[in-house]
Amino acid sequence: MTTDATTQPTGTQPTTTSPTTTAPTDTDHRARADRPASSVAARVDDVSKVYGRGETAVVALAHVSLDILAGEFTAIMGPSGSGKSTLMHCAAGLDDVTRGRVFLGDIELTALSEKDLTRTRRDHVGFVFQSFNLIPTLTAQENILLPLAIAGRRPDQAWYDQVIDTIGLRDRLDHRPSELSGGQQQRVACARALVSRPEVIFADEPTGNLDSTSGSEVLGFLRRSVDDFGQTIVMVTHDPNAASWTDRVVFLADGVVVGELRNPTPDAVLARMRSLDGHHPAPGALPGGPAPRTTSRPGTTGEEA
Ligand code: ADP
Repeated sequence: MTTDATTQPTGTQPTTTSPTTTAPTDTDHRARADRPASSVAARVDDVSKVYGRGETAVVALAHVSLDILAGEFTAIMGPSGSGKSTLMHCAAGLDDVTRGRVFLGDIELTALSEKDLTRTRRDHVGFVFQSFNLIPTLTAQENILLPLAIAGRRPDQAWYDQVIDTIGLRDRLDHRPSELSGGQQQRVACARALVSRPEVIFADEPTGNLDSTSGSEVLGFLRRSVDDFGQTIVMVTHDPNAASWTDRVVFLADGVVVGELRNPTPDAVLARMRSLDGHHPAPGALPGGPAPRTTSRPGTTGEEA
């Protein structure tokens, strides 16, 4: 059985792509297929999420199983309301699940107390949000170091310098967010997520508030974080160009994983998204039984079902 209910339609060459970001050039990509096999950085195992009860209950996720491999840049895509944000929030331990289990590395988040979950998130997870979420009264540098300060940890100076040089904002470190452009603010937010060396960075529409040039700068920085530092990143996006910066795109429709693409191009992602617009699952709560795990296979290229 396959989880992929969609196949890429033939003869539907997209004439337009989303203007939000531009696609990467060839040199932006590393030879991803040559990478060694890596471990699972995050996992959701037969996870369902139901909001509300009774007749007003909404099934946001239904029996979703997904492995996120360490050192990969993964995009979560799907139509509005398909469960992308819910999946990200559940995988990051920001929201509880109705059933199923969630792991960060070997740690089962769904088995932790609230206190341990908060600590685990703080120490092992980085977040980048669409709206930057910087503290307006703090400088860029203070914002970047805030999570470490809260955790009572000191920054590794060499690593901090490397991150700052990579985001290219050394001359703006004393500026407050209001003195920075949107793209610069988001790069500060990325540095804040990266500086604690989290096991996974979850990014929710990180280019959603940016123009195409700034969005591409942020995506380029995220891409380099994966290629140069081995960072694991999961990004929710609706933008095919943004998704084409990743190694792997996982598609959701109506709370179910319906397929994935490896080494995505904007046109391939757009074609798949178009085919998803007509996706209608069987009616009823928590449709079907547990779906097969969607597992990333390093070294493969092209489309996977
Ligand atoms: P996406 O991110 O793909 O747009 P969401 O994960 O935000 O989708 O939402 C998935 C479904 O769950 C939608 O039908 C949405 O209306 C519903 N939903 C999301 N959050 C809540 C909530 N807090 N209460 C009730 N329903 C919700």
